[in-house]
Amino acid sequence: MHASDVADDLVEVLFTEAQIQARLAEMAAEIDRDYEGKDLVLVGVLRGAVMVMADLSRALTQHLEMDWMAVSSYGSGTKSSGVVRILKDLDADIAGRHVLIVDEIIDTGLTLSWLTSNLGSRGPASVEIATLLRKPEALQMPITPKYVGWDIPNEFVVGYGLDYRERYRNLRDIGTLSPKIYS
Ligand code: 5GP
Ligand code: MG
Ligand code: MG
Repeated sequence: MHASDVADDLVEVLFTEAQIQARLAEMAAEIDRDYEGKDLVLVGVLRGAVMVMADLSRALTQHLEMDWMAVSSYGSGTKSSGVVRILKDLDADIAGRHVLIVDEIIDTGLTLSWLTSNLGSRGPASVEIATLLRKPEALQMPITPKYVGWDIPNEFVVGYGLDYRERYRNLRDIGTLSPKIYS
């Protein structure tokens, strides 16, 4: 172990790498069934969804295209700024195609609510959401993801793509940070 191993800062592991992979495999089986024979475009929301996109897409067996958007709704800390900006738009034309937005977490739902209507205005055949995590208590917008890995309590989690000040994305598990990290 390195002297300052990133995993040392967790107080609790909520989901292990193995649990995450097992849940993604279940979600992928549903998605494969629902989108059979359809022109599927996975839209990953940078940067948090990178790990989910990598593992979910490889658990799928059908043909698909992967594209990415970068939007900003959070500052560098743990509070929502309430502002959504496009930092990087899609390369793909999604008109007439089936879009599945891939994200790692829905908190207030502000980002995905905005993104869903933005993508919806481009004439796709459908727009749905797959998210690994959702915080039902924090939800402020009426969005209904078609695929949800787990509902979690309203607390700040890191790992598996989820950052705190751009760190901890490379943790293989998902967990909560020791309070000493925030102070
Ligand atoms: P929302 O718009 O649903 O409030 O959340 C937008 C983004 O905030 C998420 O995609 C994620 O990047 C970040 N976020 C929300 N909750 C958490 C959390 O518990 N941990 C981390 N690391 N990021 C979060
Ligand atoms: Mg995200
Ligand atoms: Mg973040």
